[in-house]
Amino acid sequence: MRILLVEDESGLVMTLTDRLRTEGYDVVTATDGDEGLSIALEGNLSAIILDVMLPKKNGFDVARDLRQQGVETPILMLTAKGEIIDKVLGLKLGADDYMTKPFEMAELLARLEALIRRSSTQDQNTVNGVFRFGEIDVDLQRAEVRKRGEAIELSAMEFRLLQFFLNNRGVVHSRDDLLDAVWGYDSMPTTRTVDVHIAWLRQKLEENPKRPKHIQTVHGMGYKFIT
Ligand code: CA
Repeated sequence: MRILLVEDESGLVMTLTDRLRTEGYDVVTATDGDEGLSIALEGNLSAIILDVMLPKKNGFDVARDLRQQGVETPILMLTAKGEIIDKVLGLKLGADDYMTKPFEMAELLARLEALIRRSSTQDQNTVNGVFRFGEIDVDLQRAEVRKRGEAIELSAMEFRLLQFFLNNRGVVHSRDDLLDAVWGYDSMPTTRTVDVHIAWLRQKLEENPKRPKHIQTVHGMGYKFIT
């Protein structure tokens, strides 16, 4: 489980990182809002701990930008005591929970765990292990894909690519990121391989492969998947 901690107080970064690692979390840190946002957009996170008062971009703006881009990673916001925080506004902008500093570490861990559990069981697209988008059903355990109930044959690579997209919805992935994540660092394919597989997936899954609704091209950046 990978957690992003966006916080500019170095003491707190150290304490929190140590404690989270002791609890078995993998922790990445950012010390300003811009950096936090760009790491969060890369995806692959179980949760984000986000301070409100940050250099460059505040926590509210980071949360809003993430949600606008379709990133659904749960966010636990940290506010300093005495900061005037419009809690309702914060929740509207996309935070899932709040804590006021100073806080008990045990409480933060409990809330974090609850957030992660909630977001994984509350995945509205998944029913009994079957992920649904448009007219496509993906049985993740059996590696079976159906379109309007009819089985669709995907190659192992196409399925892995689709699975990666489903796990990182709303996030823009460069071709290189996809190569690393799906094909692996040691493999030899080129970014052209990615484009070819994307085209095949679109052909099989999209209603109109020329105007894809789910597997979208983000010009100059790569691809993103939306449901
Ligand atoms: Ca701060």
